Amino acid sequence: MTKGFSAMQKGLAVKLDGVSFSYGEASFRFDVEFAAGRITAIMGPSGSGKSTLLNLIAGFESPNKGKVLIGGEDVGNAPPSGRPVSMVFQENNLFAHLSVEANVGLGRSPSLRLSDADRIAVAEALARVGLAGKEKRLPRELSGGERQRVALARVLLRDRPVLLLDEPFASLGPALRDDMLDLVAGIHAERAMTVLFVTHQPEDARRIGQDMAFLDAGTIASIGPAEDFFERSGPDAFRRYIGDRGDTVAGSQHIARKRT
Ligand code: ADP
Ligand code: MG
Repeated sequence: MTKGFSAMQKGLAVKLDGVSFSYGEASFRFDVEFAAGRITAIMGPSGSGKSTLLNLIAGFESPNKGKVLIGGEDVGNAPPSGRPVSMVFQENNLFAHLSVEANVGLGRSPSLRLSDADRIAVAEALARVGLAGKEKRLPRELSGGERQRVALARVLLRDRPVLLLDEPFASLGPALRDDMLDLVAGIHAERAMTVLFVTHQPEDARRIGQDMAFLDAGTIASIGPAEDFFERSGPDAFRRYIGDRGDTVAGSQHIARKRT
């Protein structure tokens, strides 16, 4: 899987086919397909396996059994860098000793040998995420939200068909989080990549989730259109998780804002 992925590539389906994995006592079993080009919100209790699911797709962990397929291709033998995937974590996405523009440039060239066209692309990506003028700063000279914007600019440079987000905005306040979610939705609208987005916040899932997967005890307990999860007929385990006792539908005031 070291072949090049061309610019503006659309999303690819992500399939885990009979995947099993364990960390000692904790065991996981995933049999699921995430449709190409959709945003799927991934929710579930702490320790249910959300990060493990993303790590198996990204190649930071390998299944004991079963296959991970991206765009129908078995990526089992490809290292993380050879997979058509970008991943953004809650923090530590950036190299502390490199400037903002170098951190973004790494998305194009790991050795930072950048052509003039690459440099223009870096500047455009930084402008797109609202960081024009901050190219020369070091990560410590940015706010937490700005650091995540740099990580998203690098996602733009990498231009991979699959984007994995593991609680990337969990440490940001609500207003800033909404701005960042809208940025992700905007990038998705432009690039149509397949997005798997782990969050603890039901409002986040409502805001940008098209589909939803609810994990429990190392497996996907429910998956389907996100709006179905917030209906009274939504999965019981999910409704208990979000503390919905059935009298109101949590977050229903946000329905009008939700993207479909
Ligand atoms: P989530 O992201 O849903 O909170 P994780 O996928 O991180 O859950 O973890 C699922 C389970 O696997 C937890 O019980 C956790 O303790 C265990 N686990 C996660 N990573 C490791 C690891 N590197 N080594 C051992 N156990 C781990
Ligand atoms: Mg996690």
